[in-house]
Amino acid sequence: MPELPEVENTRRNLVRAGLSGSTITGANITWANTVKKPSAAELAKGLKDRTIQDIQRRGKYLIFPLSGGDPASLPSTFIVHLGMTGRLYVQPQSQKPHPMTRHSFPLDDGRELRFEDGRKFGKLWLVDSTDEVLPAMSPEPFDDDFTVETLAESFVGRKAPVKALLLEQSIVCGLGNLYADESLFLAGIHPERPASGLSTDELARLRQAIIDALTAAYGVYDRSRDQHWPDPPAALTTWSHPRDTKAGCPNCGTNMTGIRVRARGTYFCSKCQV
Ligand SMILES: [Zn+2]
Repeated sequence: MPELPEVENTRRNLVRAGLSGSTITGANITWANTVKKPSAAELAKGLKDRTIQDIQRRGKYLIFPLSGGDPASLPSTFIVHLGMTGRLYVQPQSQKPHPMTRHSFPLDDGRELRFEDGRKFGKLWLVDSTDEVLPAMSPEPFDDDFTVETLAESFVGRKAPVKALLLEQSIVCGLGNLYADESLFLAGIHPERPASGLSTDELARLRQAIIDALTAAYGVYDRSRDQHWPDPPAALTTWSHPRDTKAGCPNCGTNMTGIRVRARGTYFCSKCQV
């Protein structure tokens, strides 16, 4: 499932492909349920002859401000959520599309923005403002206002396992199962610790570990993009803890422990994470 590094990688791929400044000339929507607002037909009509101004991201949402089109009152924010299996990329119209391509948006330069989505959990919107779509989210982990204090505030009175809370987008937007485990591994914190019981020192370690885990992941994706352009892989292993109980902890050699936290597969070192 795409987490923050995969969505940011998608954004950087689209930037590198030079999508900004391209004009969308149409829309082929083959699975109408993906379109959440307005209707699939209205979305297709509303995207036609619109120029993509920029490629932005907030949490796991990709945001494309649009200009142009007629009438001028058309909604001007195209939003994409990749869901469980979504991939979004630009290819020449002449290139045969992947069989799981559900939607395509031809561009005025002979290329096409393609949305491949095997399991069809992806979502599309064309709206006036991101406020109509995006849920309440924490500050971005790389923003200055993602602080130990904000993390501490969101854990106040919450005895749920810290791993479970790290998956809430209002606490750390963009973090998912793999990077929650990696952050706790780097911070040396047991995933089942009650969140409200973490000390200030542990919260500081956790905040830094989240940033370090994401920084490392971004680096892996950036290097891979350079090596494999124009076809960089969509999903890479970018974490340092083994997700296998037969494998040893890279720090101490103890076999990793596998448990479920709120039904999510969770791996940790019983010796290093306390
Ligand atoms: Zn260990």
